Amino acid sequence: MSAARAAIVPVTPFQQNCTLLWCEATKRAVVIDPGGDLDRIHDAIAQAGVTVEAIWLTHGHIDHAGGAADLKEALGVSIIGPHRADLFLLQHLAEAGRAYGMTGVRNVTPDQWLDEGDRVALSDLAFDVLHCPGHSPGSVAFVNRDQRFAIVGDVLFRGSVGRTDLPGGDHAALIRSIKTKLLPLGDEVLFLCGHGAASTIGAERAANPFLR
Ligand SMILES: [Zn+2]
Ligand SMILES: [Zn+2]
Repeated sequence: MSAARAAIVPVTPFQQNCTLLWCEATKRAVVIDPGGDLDRIHDAIAQAGVTVEAIWLTHGHIDHAGGAADLKEALGVSIIGPHRADLFLLQHLAEAGRAYGMTGVRNVTPDQWLDEGDRVALSDLAFDVLHCPGHSPGSVAFVNRDQRFAIVGDVLFRGSVGRTDLPGGDHAALIRSIKTKLLPLGDEVLFLCGHGAASTIGAERAANPFLR
């Protein structure tokens, strides 16, 4: 089984953790959540010496998807995810860019929507898709069961959970997503999130104040 490697690239004024994820054996990669600052993302790709084969989106917020259209064009790859329920966010990215003072942000339509139970692959690394509504209606998480790690976007953070005061947010749904889909993955599962440090499911189960 090939090893997975990841590099975190902080992008946008929101310091979002754009993640370059690659298969060590094949040097094939995906870019997850290219919110903006594409020069930094291109630098990370060059530094890792990998070939990007797709863009994956965890959800439709500007700090995650704001640079997706430009990166798709630059790399000639498809955009996969999130769940279709975030279409309304992806169709208003340019407007959100103006509101947040971010220039050059474009609306984007993914090439492939994702749903609960779908699988996406990077070389021989397989990721299960979990639909985790609450932070946004179309948020998804990517889970690699073999290597016990997940990429959860803004659903769950170290010591916190995603905000639910934005359009389509639903706190009860968010907590339900975490408790029914992420916690059952197992305590040893490491996860990368959209903002801040990585954590494990076990650490959050034990100490996250929002999950008491
Ligand atoms: Zn978000
Ligand atoms: Zn975010």
